[in-house]
Amino acid sequence: MAEKITVGHVHMSGCTGCLVSFADNYEGLLTILDKYADLVYCLTLADVRHIPEMDVALVEGSVCINDHLSVEEIIETRKNSKIVVALGGCACYGNITRFCRGGQMNQPQHEGFLPIGDLIDVDVYIPGCAPTPQQIRNVCVMAYLLLKGNDEQKALAGAYLTPFMNLAKAGTEACGCDIMTQVINQGLCMGCGSCAAACPVRAISMEYGKPQIERDLCIKCGACYAQCPRSFFSFDVVNQYEAIMDAIDAAMQP
Ligand code: SF4
Ligand code: SF4
Repeated sequence: MAEKITVGHVHMSGCTGCLVSFADNYEGLLTILDKYADLVYCLTLADVRHIPEMDVALVEGSVCINDHLSVEEIIETRKNSKIVVALGGCACYGNITRFCRGGQMNQPQHEGFLPIGDLIDVDVYIPGCAPTPQQIRNVCVMAYLLLKGNDEQKALAGAYLTPFMNLAKAGTEACGCDIMTQVINQGLCMGCGSCAAACPVRAISMEYGKPQIERDLCIKCGACYAQCPRSFFSFDVVNQYEAIMDAIDAAMQP
């Protein structure tokens, strides 16, 4: 087996739900740490104080731009990492931290939160609030195969990761109109209701199984887009679905 890749979890301003979702892989997480990845940075799970060099940085949460330590940390993360992954809706689009004022204890000095892509170049977005355990696991395995796999595995990993890379290229702004133009109007909506459940201002309601968006109410937090499973839909992935899943299943054998 090829040597392991090094992975870090960098916690900015978020609720830790993404890390909990990563941990919810249970034995799968142990398999990843045993065979594919050394966890070299994670304030919750590893006793390392400074951001080391690493192959993949999983960044959770948005950045408080009034806190210079947070700004320095995200810049240091970019410098030290080959691949930066925005893990979850807050890192990708700001999500609820777009209009947060310091959490439960109101701290006006912490009123400016930005998604990490507004401050550094980001390679991969994993949307979702939180992303599912399987989604995080799959991206980790595919990142490993992209960096260390044979030619066939690299090609499958590239196909799987491309929609997530395209999300990163598309930028940090997403709103109800993006759901409308890129998902609903394209005939991709499957009526799951996740967007309506995610919207913090109830700008989305489900009518006859389809989301109806009150654009005047939308505060452009991107939560609906981060949560929509069809916002990163790809025919390439669908066409190679069995081969991709076989590669992931084979990799996850204990
Ligand atoms: S529709 Fe709701 S969840 Fe979507 S961006 Fe607007 S406010 Fe946020
Ligand atoms: S989350 Fe996406 S797929 Fe689900 S109802 Fe909303 S727009 Fe449709």
